[in-house]
Amino acid sequence: MRSTKIIVALLITCALFSARVFAQKPVAPDGKMNAFISQLMSKMTLDEKIGQLNLPGAGDITTGQAANSGIAGKIEKGEVGGLFNIKTVAKIKDVQRLAVERSRLKIPLLFGMDVIHGYETVFPIPLGLSCSWDMPEIEESARIAAKEASADGICWTFSPMVDICRDPRWGRIAEGGGEDPYLGSQIARAMVKGYQQDLSGNSDIMACVKHYALYGAAEAGRDYNTTDMSLVRMFNVYLPPYKAAVDAGAGSVMASFNDVNGIPATANKFLLTDVLRKRWGFNGFVVTDYTGINELVQHGLGDLQTVSALALKAGVDMDMVGEGFLTTLKKSLGQGKITQAQIDFACRKVLEAKYKLGLFANPYKYCDEHRAATDIFTFANRTAARRIAADCFVLLKNKGNVLPLRKTGTIAVIGPLGDNKENMPGTWSVAANFEQSVSLLQGLQDAVGENARVIYSMGSNLDADSLFEERAGMFGKSLHRDHRPATAIIRDALSVAAKADVIVAALGESAEMSGESSSRSEIGIPGVQEDLLKALLATGKPVVLVLFTGRPLTIKWENDNVPAILDVWFGGTEAGHAIADVLFGDVNPSGKLTATWPQNVGQIPLYYDHMNTGRPLEGPWFQKFRSNYLDVSNDPVYPFGYGLSYTHFTYKDLILSSTSLKGAQRLTATVTVTNDGDREGKEVVQLYIRQLVGSITRPVKELKGFQKIDLKTGESRKVTFTITPDDLKFYNNDLKYDWEAGDFVIMTGGNSRDVLSAKVNWVK
Ligand code: BGC
Repeated sequence: MRSTKIIVALLITCALFSARVFAQKPVAPDGKMNAFISQLMSKMTLDEKIGQLNLPGAGDITTGQAANSGIAGKIEKGEVGGLFNIKTVAKIKDVQRLAVERSRLKIPLLFGMDVIHGYETVFPIPLGLSCSWDMPEIEESARIAAKEASADGICWTFSPMVDICRDPRWGRIAEGGGEDPYLGSQIARAMVKGYQQDLSGNSDIMACVKHYALYGAAEAGRDYNTTDMSLVRMFNVYLPPYKAAVDAGAGSVMASFNDVNGIPATANKFLLTDVLRKRWGFNGFVVTDYTGINELVQHGLGDLQTVSALALKAGVDMDMVGEGFLTTLKKSLGQGKITQAQIDFACRKVLEAKYKLGLFANPYKYCDEHRAATDIFTFANRTAARRIAADCFVLLKNKGNVLPLRKTGTIAVIGPLGDNKENMPGTWSVAANFEQSVSLLQGLQDAVGENARVIYSMGSNLDADSLFEERAGMFGKSLHRDHRPATAIIRDALSVAAKADVIVAALGESAEMSGESSSRSEIGIPGVQEDLLKALLATGKPVVLVLFTGRPLTIKWENDNVPAILDVWFGGTEAGHAIADVLFGDVNPSGKLTATWPQNVGQIPLYYDHMNTGRPLEGPWFQKFRSNYLDVSNDPVYPFGYGLSYTHFTYKDLILSSTSLKGAQRLTATVTVTNDGDREGKEVVQLYIRQLVGSITRPVKELKGFQKIDLKTGESRKVTFTITPDDLKFYNNDLKYDWEAGDFVIMTGGNSRDVLSAKVNWVK
């Protein structure tokens, strides 16, 4: 009894003591991790530390044979921090075993992969996904991708890609969320949340925001090309989505290939340290892009040893593929060109990522053999992919309500993309099984069953030039070229079209005409396909253009001449079903463009939030001594935020809670949106703001909010936006982020061009 009392008293004293200790000196949230890593690093040799910074590609590993692979020796020596481009639990477990059983310190490896818009279940390309303006759906797509990838052993994805792009010649515009920093930031956040959750579960994978920075501003839209930009534009337009991803907790950042104001991003201390670490407080790790360090040699910054040291000093922590770090850092340290602290910092960051992923606690956390069968390419995932894809398509035109189609009669699908599975997943679909994707033809046939006849003819090749077609299909996403003369191919198509009540023309780009290293200097539909389209229109039958593309295209002629155009991007695994859902009206289209579609290449860059200039064109084109062209108006074919529905929405009564505000007051802007068409539909209600007078020039409008609403026929809704001074902030010439007093125009509408507006004055 007495001893029990003593024990209780002791326990209380201990509790009080530790509470007091705790109260005096709170343990840092990362305290445990820091202590663990410090202890581990105290045992590491210099070589082992440098080894952690090395990220080779997986190479030749075959299941059960990891120990015999080229990379095995390096892993055992502790010269590898992670591997990329390896999948399946069997292989990854095998390789992980080498690290945790055969290397001296048993440090687990990271396994990364480009899981960009889905894994085996592929979602629409990111530019398409962004057009849903539906953050829960975008997050859901990333979550499903994370679940599938992690079930195959992967713990790290090189996504989200959040490069703002205003030049559709650049093929990688397909991989991002379009031209707008506000929308891009929302998407960045949703993706990071979807991938990572809190990293505790075995289906949470680490995100890697890329390509930091300004990769989407490559001059002339040519991939890997130079970027040169004012700091004001950089901070107000191009950096916000990366920052949003970092604020959302993205565990890693990928440095981009390009030159930024004279210093390639991979060696750019201003970007990687001053902005990323110091201004934004990023505490994850920085990885290069593929051979990014080696390419600094070509950029002209020195030999491999020099540029590897430059990259480390700038703030790179991990070297993808090139092994510049592995082979030169020790020498540089010996010569005093870098410091031990710089190596330690990078090593710590890589180890922290492994710790945060839980790999030290369980190196096989992502190696559950049973999950692949139950979690990958499931019916539920495919159903989600179909639903999400249908929400991304953008109805560009629908004259005379050609759409939706009826599920009766004969429908002719004509065009090189009409009966093609392998192009449906789009640019980044490394884990996709092309055979399992649904073509447009199959989607339509599945939708109509016995009620209608769906017939098909290819009608044309992708392009008249077979060499171009080869270049635009190098990764096996063939368009199955027909080697007969174009006239013979069209003739066949016309005889098929003759039997139909309606023609669905499946035209545009192949999947590999956008994406990495797929820039184009002309961005129209290839001429041979246009010839086909003209022949189809000449039949006098109703023609619906189903447009496959990875970028905004120049389709002024098509917009003027084709009655109905549905932009379907590359819709992923379930593309064919999702397109059928929209064509037949089972889903009412609600996508809105997130990048401006120019009339011609000469207008590029064309974007909605441009500056006013001192000589803006006010009134009709053309006016001498105004900012306009002799040969084309300033208008796009389709503005940012544009997209039609099978129903119609009317905007009226933009009401502001006040027209004169002070300080931190809140403004509410309410607009009444009515569905005055004949079917239920979703509408993206958009809010734009313009600051009329500023210390620097300000854009003519900037997106500051949006809401996606669902309205029944005849239903009206008051949609309210709350605006605070935070929404008015921008980076001024001193890179100070603040707002300025003055007059503002508040605008709402269903796209960036057609808006209602009202004015407020806001003083400090
Ligand atoms: C691309 C990155 C990608 C990396 C790894 C590079 O060529 O630019 O986006 O993550 O390869 O595959």
